[in-house]
Formats: sequence, C-alpha cells, structure tokens
Amino acid sequence: MQYSLIIGQDSIKKHLKQIAKSKQISHGYIFEGPKGTGKFDMAKIFGQSILCRNQGPEPCEICSSCIKANSGNHPDMQYLDLDEDSIKRQDIDGILNKIYTKPYESNRKIFIINESHKMTVQAANAFLKTLEEPPADTIIILITTNINLLLPTIASRCQHFRFEEISFNEIVRILVRDYNSTESEARLLAGYSKGILQRAINIKHKTFDLLALRDQVLEIVDGLMDGGRFTAFRFEKYFDQNKAHTEEIIEIMMIWFRDVLFYKTDLKENIINIDKLELVAKHSKKANSIKCSEIFGHLQMTYEDINNNSNFKYAIDHLLFEIQEVRHG
Ligand SMILES: [Zn+2]
Repeated sequence: MQYSLIIGQDSIKKHLKQIAKSKQISHGYIFEGPKGTGKFDMAKIFGQSILCRNQGPEPCEICSSCIKANSGNHPDMQYLDLDEDSIKRQDIDGILNKIYTKPYESNRKIFIINESHKMTVQAANAFLKTLEEPPADTIIILITTNINLLLPTIASRCQHFRFEEISFNEIVRILVRDYNSTESEARLLAGYSKGILQRAINIKHKTFDLLALRDQVLEIVDGLMDGGRFTAFRFEKYFDQNKAHTEEIIEIMMIWFRDVLFYKTDLKENIINIDKLELVAKHSKKANSIKCSEIFGHLQMTYEDINNNSNFKYAIDHLLFEIQEVRHG
C-alpha cells in the first residue's frame, strides 16, 4: 500500500515519509483521531515503508518485504486488532513475547495496536514496562480515538500524530473531482458522510439508491407537513419494509429538518438538500422552530429503539406524532 490510498492527512504523510527517509525512527508512535480517518492504514503503510528493502520514503510495492506486508503475512509486522470491548493482559502478553524475539527477516519489528485505549489497567501496565525500555529493533504504533484515554506515562513515551476529519467542502471537492459526482449529489453525500470520505463513497456505490430513498422519505414527510392523513399503519409498514435502511431513513429526516431550520433562520448556505430548495421553503413556512429543533432528539431515540428491537410499534407511533407536531403552532 502507498500513502496515496489515504485521502487528506497530508502533513502526517509528509512527516512519516521524512521519518522513514531519515531513519530517525522512535520506538513509539500514537496515531490519534476520529474513526474512519485512515489511522490504521497509515500505520500499516508507515510500517511497510520501514521494512521495505528499497528504503525509500514510501513502500516500493515490489520487494519481497512489501509483497508480504501487502498480503498481511509479514512476520515482522504484527497487529493487535480485536473486536472486543477491552484489550486484556493476555492479549498484550502475546504481543510482548514477540517483542522480545529477534526480527525474522528485517532489522526491525513493527507492532500496531488498534483501539489501544481499550487496554485494561493490567494490560496497560504490562505494556508500559516494555515501552520504558523497548528492544532497539522495535517500533510500536498505538492507534486511538482519544489520547486522553491512554496512561499519561504511555502517551509521553510516544510521538503523537493527530488525524483530522476532512471538511465538508473538501469531501464535496473530492467527490466532484474524482468520483464523477455532480455538485448537488456531492453535497448530499458529504452531508451524509459525517466527515468521512469513505462513507460518502460507500453511499455512492451502494447497491441501493440513496437519492431514491430520500425521495420516498420526503414524500412521507411532505404528506405529514401537508396535514394529510398518514396513518400510523402505513408509517409503520414503511419502516418495517425498509428496516435494513433505518439508519439512512432517520438520517435523511434529520438532515431534512436541519435544512428546514437553516432556511427558517436564514442560514441557507448550509442547506444540504439544495436540489429540493422549494420543498425546504414550503416546509419552513409550516414548521414551528422549537418543534423542529426538538425532532432531532426524537429521531435519534427512534433509531436506538428500532436498533434495540424495543417496542417497534411504539417508537414509530411516537415519531409519527412528533413529525406531525412540527407543523403546528
Ligand atoms: Zn518494498
């Protein structure tokens, strides 16, 4: 893998390339930042570049070391990437045993620990002892969403890189430039991306059509805002039939009411559904500002209720009532 795989984070890439080139490599690094910003891939690429036989600023992709690293089978590159609530002492012991053996085929060993803030106190203490006096050939990369959740004594022994979310406008720009999106589609996708480009791309490439789903959802919302009789039964049925897309439906509604609020408060430049401006305007005339801002909490709650399977009918009835209420006053 090469650094071009990761979108944005240019200053971190530059810095990591300099480190690989200078060979002034520390024993510990912390990659901190929100989910989906490329921390784990960046750590793999950095590790690969250090092990690369051609020793350039970034992996050559053709040497035997790079080929092994790309296949995930490099014996000198170890990952701890657990899908558990915590990283326990025995997980860390497994890593520590490997830290104290010689590299198999390189002159260094790379250890990448994902979600390192999940280390239990026992695990963190065991780990700290190693980090205080690591073997000379060892490089440890800790990945975390929040450095404050790591022991300060661990954090202080590592060089820290902070990954940033990509801005809304940056995502729009990349979608238009590299992914064949129109401006209005790009704004919509960026609006649903939560600052994560990969999420926007996934929505674009999804087997179902987000824009078509949005049209259905807006038809329902429009019916409710018109005061039309939308029976709880039909509403329930819609959610039930589209259960796989509950998250998207809820998000579409949230972004919609956010747009309505922006329109009402004359912050139109923030509107995401710019291709539906007329409908936004229509709803903003009918909507009560307070109810409109309250709806977010209800939508969030509905999502959680549906996810927890706790009283689906009640959750949906309640949401229907709340949306109808937005209109009054
Ligand atoms: Zn290589």
